[in-house]
Amino acid sequence: MVTAEDPLVPLRIGSVGDHSGAAWAEGVRVQWPVSLLERTGWRHWIDATGALTIPPGPTSISREDARTLRERRAFTDGPPATARLPFNYHVVPGWARALIASAIGRWNRRRVDRWAAFPSWPIDVSSDVLDDLRDDALPAPAGVTPVILTHDIDSPEGLANLVDRFLTLEESVGARSTNYVVPCAWPVDDGRLQEVIARGHEVGVHGCDHRNRTPFASPADRARRLDAARGFAERYRASGYRAPSLLRTRPLLRDIGTRYRYDSSIPTSGGLFPTPNNGCASTRPFAVERTPELPVTIPRDGALRFLGYTPDEIVRVWIECSDLVARAGGVVVVLTHCERRFSGAPGMFEAYRRFLEHVSTHSERFVFSTPACVLGGGV
Ligand SMILES: [Zn+2]
Repeated sequence: MVTAEDPLVPLRIGSVGDHSGAAWAEGVRVQWPVSLLERTGWRHWIDATGALTIPPGPTSISREDARTLRERRAFTDGPPATARLPFNYHVVPGWARALIASAIGRWNRRRVDRWAAFPSWPIDVSSDVLDDLRDDALPAPAGVTPVILTHDIDSPEGLANLVDRFLTLEESVGARSTNYVVPCAWPVDDGRLQEVIARGHEVGVHGCDHRNRTPFASPADRARRLDAARGFAERYRASGYRAPSLLRTRPLLRDIGTRYRYDSSIPTSGGLFPTPNNGCASTRPFAVERTPELPVTIPRDGALRFLGYTPDEIVRVWIECSDLVARAGGVVVVLTHCERRFSGAPGMFEAYRRFLEHVSTHSERFVFSTPACVLGGGV
């Protein structure tokens, strides 16, 4: 069995031989545990350039191997500084928080090997490739790749921008978005949320008050915080949960599973935020702590802006990552914020528009979808 302490070895998939279910991964870079490369004997099949030729025959790769790699950095077990502050960090004005984070981000952009050692930034499919090399792997599902548009609505401004601008843009390309709204921090405009639903979009729950405490709270306090959103969730038929700042722990995921149909808080590659080296290195929905998880598969707007990416670079990263998600048989899950300091700014809104246009003009490869469609009718 692979343990979480195993060092990871960076590789390039040179050839998958007769393992045709993983043919899509030829040329892709992955990182796999050293013990797995020992056990399979594959370490003898790595050439001087780091390319692995997978020998023919059974692989002995198990479901457990893929799960262990997926969960290796899936949780943010230590709270970042904001969760430990004795005051609500929202009292630091948004513009100041954005500047502080942005300064940290620019400083770190070149030190990618430290904060994105694993999963790799901006995307990492190491778990998916491993999953497709199992002896009992199912053939990859044929068909187009679902694209799910999501927004985290952190403020009244975000909600206003969503309704006034983002929904119209999404509707113009035939898409509907899922919007995770903070239920207990600011007075939610009921009229606007009813409009979101009436126009065919969805509402989800974005934590409690966005103070980044729920994942690290005691069981009773966590239950209290999660239950505070119950009235909101019922009123707006919210079936999914997105953790504020994508901070998540195993106990949180367990508790979400008893209250919501799914969670969407684990990024494929989280990069620097909320803590370095976080993500599941998978682009496909999976179950964790008995909760269906819809990973955020392409880099979110906030992380990219904080790292100093320009809107042009962001469109390029989104398109390239979406292409790899499509090859991997995953689901493109996009996370943007509608506030002006994120994707509500003119340049970023235009970047989002260009990305949606790219998706809608490549209908042979992509189709706009929703969490319910992807995760099954029960959601
Ligand atoms: Zn948020």
